[in-house]
Amino acid sequence: MLQDCILVVGAGVAGLATALRLAPLPVTLIAGSPLGHGAATALAQGGIAAALGDDDAPELHAADTLAAGAGLGDPAVARRVAEAADEVVAWLAGLETPFDRDAEGRLALGLEAAHGRRRIVHARGDRTGLAVLETLIRAARGAPHIMIADDLRAVALLRDAHGRIAGLRARAPSGEVALPARAVVLATGGLGALYGSTTNPPGAVGSGLALAARAGAVMRDMEFVQFHPTAIAVGADPMPLATEALRGEGAILLDERGKRFMEDVPGRELAARDVVARAIFSEIAAGRQVFLDARLKGLDGRFPGVVALCRAHGLDPARQPIPVRPAAHYHMGGIRVDAAGRSTVAGLWACGEVASTGLHGANRLASNSLLEALVFAGWSADDIRGNLALPGAPETRTAPRGTIPAPADIRALMDAGVGVVRDAAGLSHVIRRLHDVAADDRALVALMVAAGAFARRESRGGHFRADCPAADAIGRHSETTLDATLRFAGELCGAPQSRQVA
Ligand SMILES: Cc1cc2nc3c(=O)[nH]c(=O)nc-3n(C[C@H](O)[C@H](O)[C@H](O)COP(=O)(O)OP(=O)(O)OC[C@H]3O[C@@H](n4cnc5c(N)ncnc54)[C@H](O)[C@@H]3O)c2cc1C
Repeated sequence: MLQDCILVVGAGVAGLATALRLAPLPVTLIAGSPLGHGAATALAQGGIAAALGDDDAPELHAADTLAAGAGLGDPAVARRVAEAADEVVAWLAGLETPFDRDAEGRLALGLEAAHGRRRIVHARGDRTGLAVLETLIRAARGAPHIMIADDLRAVALLRDAHGRIAGLRARAPSGEVALPARAVVLATGGLGALYGSTTNPPGAVGSGLALAARAGAVMRDMEFVQFHPTAIAVGADPMPLATEALRGEGAILLDERGKRFMEDVPGRELAARDVVARAIFSEIAAGRQVFLDARLKGLDGRFPGVVALCRAHGLDPARQPIPVRPAAHYHMGGIRVDAAGRSTVAGLWACGEVASTGLHGANRLASNSLLEALVFAGWSADDIRGNLALPGAPETRTAPRGTIPAPADIRALMDAGVGVVRDAAGLSHVIRRLHDVAADDRALVALMVAAGAFARRESRGGHFRADCPAADAIGRHSETTLDATLRFAGELCGAPQSRQVA
C-alpha cells in the first residue's frame, strides 16, 4: 500500500538525500528504475566542492561560483550553499561515505578548473558519484520512513481545483496508477540525453521539466546547457568522461599535430568549461582531432575510473593521449525554485539538476551540482515539513496530442542546432521542427531549450550565439511557461522566414 503523504520522484543524489532528510515523515520514493541505475549521480567523477582547506573560505568558493556563472548567479544563494558545504560533507561522512583522506586522516582535496583553491572532496579516487549514490541507497533501504517504488515512472502531476499539487500519475508494469500526495518533490535530473553527444545516461531527457511545465510551473534559463569539454571520443553512448580533475592535476590539450592550442588562452586548460569547450569545438570544426594528454604520475591510483573507461575502449591513457570532444553535460536552467526549493506551483518542490536555484547562473562551476543537490535536499525537506496541507480533489491537464518524434531525430536536431555554437537560423529550424510535436515530453523540453536560446540574443556562459557573440551589458534571467513557449514558437512558425532569422 503506497503512503499518500510525500512523493519524491527520482533516486539520484537529490531524490535520495531529500527522502532521507524528510525523516520521520513517510515518503514514497518513485525511482523510475532499479536503485543505482539511470542516475547521472553514479557517473560523477570529480567530487563535491567544499571550502574546507586551511587556505579556503566559503566566500572564496562563492566568488568562484559567481565568476563561472557569468553575471547570472545569485550571490545570496552562492554564499548560503558554500557555507552549508561542510555540514553536508559531514552528513555524508556520518553515513559512512568512503571519502578519500590524506595521511593524517583529513579529507583529501582535489583541484578543478576555475576553482581558486583545492576544494574538491572525492571518494574512491574518481568514483565519487557512485560512492555517494551507494551510500545514500544503503541509507534509504534501511530507513523505515521511506517506501521505495522503483517500478513506477511519473508521467503527469495531479492538481486540485485550486491548482495545488495533489499527487501524480505514474506508469507501473500493470498500467497507470494515480498516487495522491500532499507534497511532490521532482528530483528527476537533467536533459543531456536530448543530445546525441552527451555524457548523461539515456533517461536524462528532462522528464521532470516536462511534468512541471505541463502543471504550469515557471521555468528559468532553459537555454543554458553546459557542454563538457573533454568527453572521450570513442563512439560510446553516453560518452565516457575524462574528468576535469585530470586537467587540475596537469593534463594538457593537444591538437593532432601535438600543438597545445590552449597555451595563449587565459587560464589555459583550467579556463571555465565553456571557454575550453568552444576552443575544442573550433579545433574540431577546423577538421582537427583533439587529445587530452593525461600521462600523469600516479594516474592509475588517482583516476582509476578514467583509466578503466579508456582501457575498456582499447586506449591506454598512461601511454597515449585520449581523443576528446565536447558533449552535453549539465543543464543550468530548470524549474525555478526559491531558497527553500519551492517551485511556483503550490505543493511542488524541485531539487538537483532539474531545478534552477540561482546557484549556477549561466555556467556551473565544476563539482557544484552534487553540493547543490545535497544542500537543497535539506532545505526542501525542512520547508515541506512546515508546509504540508491537505490535498483537494485530484485533477490533471490533458496533454495535447501530436505525432511522437523518434528520440534519435530530436538528438540529431539538438546536436546540430542547439549545441556548443548556436545561431538564429539553426535555432529557428529546430523550433519549427519541434513546435508541432510538443505533445511529446522530450520534444517539449527540447523546444523550451531552443526557444530560450533563440530569444537570448547574446552570448553568456554556456550559451554561445555565433550571430551575437558579445554579452549584453546587464545579465538577465529568462523565464517561461509552457503556454508562453508554445505561443512564442507558434508566432515564430507563423511569421515569414526572413523575419524569424533576422
Ligand atoms: C559523467 C558525469 C560526471 C559528473 N561529475 C560531477 C562531479 O564530479 N561533481 C558534481 O558536482 N557533478 C557532477 N556531474 C553532475 C551531477 O552528477 C548531476 O548533476 C547530479 O548527479 C544530478 O543529480 P540528480 O539527483 O538531480 O539527478 P540524477 O542523478 O540523474 O537522478 C535522476 C533520477 O530521476 C529518475 N527519473 C527521471 N525521470 C523520472 C520519472 N519521470 N519518474 C521517475 N523517476 C524518474 C532517474 O531514474 C534517476 O533515478 C556529473 C555528471 C555526469 C553526467
